[in-house]
Amino acid sequence: MKHMKTVLILEHEEKVFEKLSCDLCGAESNGDENWAKGNFEHATTMIQLEERESYPDGGHSKQSAFHICQDCFKNKLQPWMEKQGAKATVSEADW
Ligand SMILES: [Zn+2]
Repeated sequence: MKHMKTVLILEHEEKVFEKLSCDLCGAESNGDENWAKGNFEHATTMIQLEERESYPDGGHSKQSAFHICQDCFKNKLQPWMEKQGAKATVSEADW
């Protein structure tokens, strides 16, 4: 005989990553953190400050980030940074 019992299975809600939206223009990423619009294109940006402190019994970290689409990076952020005297580090690869 197979004995069955009733159990309560609780459903739960959880926040999971869906997409990014640009903090400047509101554009949405392509499903993940990819800002590119083409099928075989990939463009990610990262503007983040991470601060960490370690104590004898633990530590603390704080991250601040801006999510900027590739168009705003190229057309707004990069020109502003260059106007401040900064120069982007550019690296390229072919495969
Ligand atoms: Zn944007």
